[in-house]
Amino acid sequence: MVIALMYRVGSRRASALCYRLHSSYVRRMRYLFELKEDDDACRQAYTSGTFFLFYNLSPFVQQKGKMLLPPKINTAEIKRILEKFQQSEERIEDSILIGCSNKCTPYFALDVGSLERSALESELNGSFTELRKAFFQLEEEDVSLISLAQALLRWHNSNQYCGKSGQPTKKNMAGSKRICDRSGIIYYPQMAPVVITLVSDGNQCLLTRQASFPKGMYSALSGFCDVGETLEEAVRREVAEEVGLEVESLWYSASQHWPFPNSTLMIACHALVHPQRNKVSINKQELEAAKWFSHEEVVMALGRKPKPSKEKDDNSFWLPPKQAIAHHLIQEWVKKQAAVSV
Ligand SMILES: [Zn+2]
Repeated sequence: MVIALMYRVGSRRASALCYRLHSSYVRRMRYLFELKEDDDACRQAYTSGTFFLFYNLSPFVQQKGKMLLPPKINTAEIKRILEKFQQSEERIEDSILIGCSNKCTPYFALDVGSLERSALESELNGSFTELRKAFFQLEEEDVSLISLAQALLRWHNSNQYCGKSGQPTKKNMAGSKRICDRSGIIYYPQMAPVVITLVSDGNQCLLTRQASFPKGMYSALSGFCDVGETLEEAVRREVAEEVGLEVESLWYSASQHWPFPNSTLMIACHALVHPQRNKVSINKQELEAAKWFSHEEVVMALGRKPKPSKEKDDNSFWLPPKQAIAHHLIQEWVKKQAAVSV
């Protein structure tokens, strides 16, 4: 984006703007790196941080009109809460680093699952809500921060012991890794790569349903990358496995962290198959249905509300909401088709 701006505008003002954008980003990344690597610096950062609370992985949110807001709680308030619930001030060090503001105020997530939930909720004037329920009512920037925080908290929760020696592992101050003192193994948070592919034959696009999808929803194909595979190989294999088609070409579109049911990196791609070899053979173990849809049908589906139809005989399908990367892939395809037909 920075390069595009400089070329398009080409003025001194644009360069200055780019410099400012760039330097602020670099400053933040260097600051976070320091906190991850230096326990003392991170301990110091706890004294002036912003905290997001969780209760057994459910984020704390407050209702603001139709939206939910995860309140930013400062260190003094966290200390007050810990004291009120007879917790040692040191519990603050159970927090994990999840990012920082533009001005380098560090953001931390703390799971207070051992305290009394209802008393906490009335004290803080909000509720701990399952992320799945809160997801579509959070602002975009909050969604990614809260999803990241939950993913990290879950990872720490399920990596308390070393897989080799069976001894307890210990997080570093920022929570960017866990260490086993016995075997010396360092564990880093992981997420599983998943390819999500929108197949097209140049004229229509292929949308599919898994049995677990809400009624009437169709989406792009998706599947986990196997160990040892490249992204391209994973796309080709998934398309062959699930719908029996051979991909002729493919290209990357975008990626997204998806927190459900566990942390995955969704890597979105477009794939092209030959129009004369587009006969689908569904893998019934993986899919309930797969159909070719025209540009017009997909445009109409994008206009429908993303929710299950109550009408029994309603055959109209709907597509994933805008928060899902599949939606973005489908939008891209629609735009491209519109441009081709002009
Ligand atoms: Zn060990």
